[in-house]
Amino acid sequence: MRRKLRLGLIAHDNKKRDLLEWVYFNRDALTRHRLIATGTTGTVVEKMLGVEVEKVRSGPLGGDQEIGAMLVNDKIDALFFFWDGLDAHPHDPDVKALLRLSVVWNVPTACNRSTADMIISSPLFEGKYERTPPDLAEYSRNRPLDISFDTGEDG
Ligand code: PGA
Repeated sequence: MRRKLRLGLIAHDNKKRDLLEWVYFNRDALTRHRLIATGTTGTVVEKMLGVEVEKVRSGPLGGDQEIGAMLVNDKIDALFFFWDGLDAHPHDPDVKALLRLSVVWNVPTACNRSTADMIISSPLFEGKYERTPPDLAEYSRNRPLDISFDTGEDG
């Protein structure tokens, strides 16, 4: 039995139709895995597919950050994040933060449909793939842990 992947799905409002079309087209492949989504995206995907989607908060209410935390804690294997490059959003910092974390943690991330097509049709998608996370030991070695300061007290 192939491993169930944990797939993150997020679409900005102007990209929801795009994501829904993509999800519908790939429904057989996607429903073999666990789907995790921001609130509204998850609701519309669930309604369309009739399968359970694990939902976090809506993106602007912190959902992107929740997905980011899952990604850092190795609870997301691939992210399909159709974000809108032509509109400003109140949660732009969260969007940027999520994209940064997906890079830092080396999580395959599709920000548009063509990349999503490439990822889902890759033999690595269903096969065994060992993602390399950041080297935490190396990171810790380079942190400034020896910080001294003058307390102002004698002796
Ligand atoms: P939504 O959030 O799925 O709740 O619409 C997506 C987003 O805007 O980040």
